[in-house]
Amino acid sequence: MNPVMTESMKAVSDICDTIIKKVDRAYVLEASKRRERPEKLWRLWADTGLLAIGLPEEYGGVGGKMSEVVLAHDRLHSAGLFLPLTIPNYMVRFPMLKHGTEEQKRKYLPGTATGETFFAFCITEADSGTNTFKIRTNAKRQANGDFVLNGQKCYITGFDEAENAIVVARTQPHDPNNHTSGLSLFIVPTKSKGISTTLMDLAVYMPDRNFIVNFDDVVVPAENMLGEEGHGLECMFDCLNPERLLAGGMNLGLAEYALMRGVEYAKIRAPFDVPIGSYQSVAHPLAIAKIRIDTARLMLYNAAERYDAGEKIGLQANMIKWLTSDALTQAANIAATVHGGAFADIGTDLIPFYLQAKMSEMAPINNSIILSFVAQKGLGLPKSY
Ligand SMILES: Cc1cc2nc3c(=O)[nH]c(=O)nc-3n(C[C@H](O)[C@H](O)[C@H](O)COP(=O)(O)OP(=O)(O)OC[C@H]3O[C@@H](n4cnc5c(N)ncnc54)[C@H](O)[C@@H]3O)c2cc1C
Repeated sequence: MNPVMTESMKAVSDICDTIIKKVDRAYVLEASKRRERPEKLWRLWADTGLLAIGLPEEYGGVGGKMSEVVLAHDRLHSAGLFLPLTIPNYMVRFPMLKHGTEEQKRKYLPGTATGETFFAFCITEADSGTNTFKIRTNAKRQANGDFVLNGQKCYITGFDEAENAIVVARTQPHDPNNHTSGLSLFIVPTKSKGISTTLMDLAVYMPDRNFIVNFDDVVVPAENMLGEEGHGLECMFDCLNPERLLAGGMNLGLAEYALMRGVEYAKIRAPFDVPIGSYQSVAHPLAIAKIRIDTARLMLYNAAERYDAGEKIGLQANMIKWLTSDALTQAANIAATVHGGAFADIGTDLIPFYLQAKMSEMAPINNSIILSFVAQKGLGLPKSY
């Protein structure tokens, strides 16, 4: 079920259709196997103007709304054109537009619209995991006002391709009585002296790579702080909540593609001379996946509209991350079952969706803590974490 489309959304949908005619799933899969960015697809996102949507014209964008950006992710992933690298490029704009200085906006934003520059986002650390308040990466202010950054981040997507990274660091020690203070965000050029990386060997078919990133006495100029010192939390969530909507669009698109593959196979596979799709044990889980996808989609586009209207969408953004990951899990699972042994054949190209479904339960935030958050914020139950 499609969302109710505005004229601008129809225009985005038309652009997606032209892209789908120019690149196919096989091309993206080959790039994913090599863990390389599918350059042709990235250029099409940029050259057709999709990357410029959602960014005001004064900073090199074409204006437009969150629902249009979500739609682009949803539609292109529905064709199997998996490209998670677009997400960090969009998500860093939101805090920069809201909290950045005029100089930062003029310097960093236009490149995100043309695809010439790319941002990575560094928050996760090995020991603290989901608990961002426990991070140990720290930035100490020097006498001249600049900062010196030390610490280590992990799982960082696309750090090798990014020109800059947003790094979340402590500028004050952790205060257990005031979790929300002491975090700051920095714009750090990825080629800065003192940065070293180790490639992580993740068992995923993704067109990008993930890194452990070390920061050893990296000098960060004072003007590279994003937002206010020690009050990075709001800035951080201005990044993370939009990310949950964009990841939602991606999850739903991938779910749609996996479901379509399952349905197509169920129509033609007939070991007992009738299509397996005529058995309720096959048809019902496919139908449940469809219900889950369509329901999550309604919620997703509603949240995008509310975001554009300036509403706080923290609770809804978390629910969407959970719902869309659940929809992807259901769709990838039944698509796998329907294919029988062929599922395990790499050439069948279903394993990437199965793995991505599992991954979507953990990242960008794990589904368990979302349930704890909804229990607390949505139901008033005691905080459990
Ligand atoms: C492919 C991929 C790309 C990524 N890209 C980036 C990136 O670009 N930048 C970045 O900063 N990070 C990135 N990450 C990291 C990702 O955000 C983290 O993996 C995720 O936040 C979970 O952290 P963790 O893996 O340490 O899990 P942990 O925090 O160790 O959690 C493990 C499990 O414990 C349970 N759990 C943990 N806490 C709670 C709780 N409070 N309540 C209930 N259950 C809980 C959950 O079941 C959870 O799955 C990426 C990860 C992957 C897999």
